[in-house]
Amino acid sequence: MYTCTKCGNILDGNGMCPSCGTAHTIPKSQPQYQQQQYQQQQYYQQPNNQMYDTKIATTGMLVLCFFIPLAGIILYAVEKAQNPTAAGKYLKIAIISIVLNIIFSILIAVVMPVLMVGSALY
Ligand SMILES: [Zn+2]
Repeated sequence: MYTCTKCGNILDGNGMCPSCGTAHTIPKSQPQYQQQQYQQQQYYQQPNNQMYDTKIATTGMLVLCFFIPLAGIILYAVEKAQNPTAAGKYLKIAIISIVLNIIFSILIAVVMPVLMVGSALY
């Protein structure tokens, strides 16, 4: 926290005292500049990540996501930040797998009693 050299008021970080209007150079501005540089570096890295996206979402991984939907959801959570495209594919296949599983178990739940009733008649 920095205070005004003229009136002692707490500075809000705009480089000007909110009470008396005296201009100040706040040492805070240096870390802010470094943060901006870091954000710019992330922007430069993004095109590379997008290129890797299609490579990472391999057929083997997608098959894994289909048979183990939980793995797909975990992969989505892990890859979401760095590879949104690949992560989206994992999640989509995991959801498709879960939906198919639900449909399949409903079919079994409906068909099985029918089969049992059918066999009981004989
Ligand atoms: Zn002041």
